[in-house]
Amino acid sequence: MATFDNILSRLKDIQAIEGLSDEAVALLSAPKRMATAELEVDGKTYPAWRIVFNDACGPGKGGIRFHPDVCEDEVKSLSFWMAVKNSLAGLPYGGGKGGVKFDPKTTDKATIEKISRKYVGAFHEVLGQDIDIPAPDVYTNGQIMSWMLDEFEKIKGRHEPGMITGKPLELGGSALRGDATARGGYIVIKEMAQRILGADKGLKVAIQGFGNAGLHITRMLAADGFSVVAASDSQGGIYNPEGLDVAKLVESKEQGIPVGDYASGQKISNQELLELPVDILILAALENQITAANADKVQARCIVELANGPIDYAADKILFSKKIMVVPDILANSGGVIVSYFEWCQNRTGNILDDAYLTDLLYKKMKGSWEAVYAKQQEKPDQIDLRSAAYIIALNRILAAEKYRGHLS
Ligand code: NAD
Repeated sequence: MATFDNILSRLKDIQAIEGLSDEAVALLSAPKRMATAELEVDGKTYPAWRIVFNDACGPGKGGIRFHPDVCEDEVKSLSFWMAVKNSLAGLPYGGGKGGVKFDPKTTDKATIEKISRKYVGAFHEVLGQDIDIPAPDVYTNGQIMSWMLDEFEKIKGRHEPGMITGKPLELGGSALRGDATARGGYIVIKEMAQRILGADKGLKVAIQGFGNAGLHITRMLAADGFSVVAASDSQGGIYNPEGLDVAKLVESKEQGIPVGDYASGQKISNQELLELPVDILILAALENQITAANADKVQARCIVELANGPIDYAADKILFSKKIMVVPDILANSGGVIVSYFEWCQNRTGNILDDAYLTDLLYKKMKGSWEAVYAKQQEKPDQIDLRSAAYIIALNRILAAEKYRGHLS
């Protein structure tokens, strides 16, 4: 099943629960703008996309992914999730996403820079602080955002730092952005653990994916007394039921050693990690990791989606029937875009806000979203999961905005 078909199935479920009109569902089922390009660099061409799914609540907002498997179905799905995520967080944004299909791991830095600049050359007319604002995603970072900003400003002949977020501090970035996704996820995990699992200290956690999102959350949870028993990256994982030495694991990963080659613990595959008997399984890699093929084997009590779309539609149903609570991506990983919003606000106004104030604001927004979603789910606990509850809140806001604009009867 294509990833976007999962989204359409979920929309049908929400339509049945909320009694949405066919007109409303049709509006939520197709992107507002899809731009595609073939980027030519040194005689090679790279397919590229920038998609805005919805902009009723504000300009497009969402990252750019560099990955060999990027395709239109994926970028379209990611842009839909951004629209829903931004709406749930109450941000003045629609949803957008971009991607270039190539492997940055096997590409030299000079070529990555050329691809980044070509991307902006191809899409500059549909980007801008009031049009659509990119940010980092898988295998893109502050350096790539810097090249993109520089190219954009060269083309436009003016400064416009708010056209992209996730920038280094020197170019108008936020000190909070580096670990914002993990920080937001950590706030939600603490709330969820206390409410649902009745504790947090000593809870056993397994983490799939050890990049920006996965590595930082591992560090935060270990520092707070959670027992991180397993972790993995694209090359495999490591397991120690007594708890891993996280400080040493992070140090080893930062030296370029894959997680699975860490010196102590039992080597496991990514598949095995998903099936471990833990309290919390954190998915922080890519889409479609838990499907009908393996959902039955999941033993975790709760799953937290730091990645976008790691559980497909069929797996959601199986996990719900097994009473495994899933904290959905659009809630759990929204810390990244919330801090991107802070960065954008600062860039637009020229004001520099205090980091302690912003940290507190992030905490309040994450806690508020968790409480709203949990309360909505508790209205019909036997019928809907947290994902459906989050979608109901977020989609109703988008539809209300569409109605006020006169786009919907
Ligand atoms: P990243 O590039 O920093 O890290 C990705 C990690 O996943 C790497 O450790 C990689 O080795 C690992 N990985 C890839 N395939 C894997 C597999 N099959 N099994 C296990 N590990 C695998 O990316 P990131 O920024 O941490 O993003 C991870 C996920 O979080 C993505 O779904 C992304 O969309 C989502 N996300 C990230 C942010 C952010 O601010 N970074 C915000 C919201 C959502």
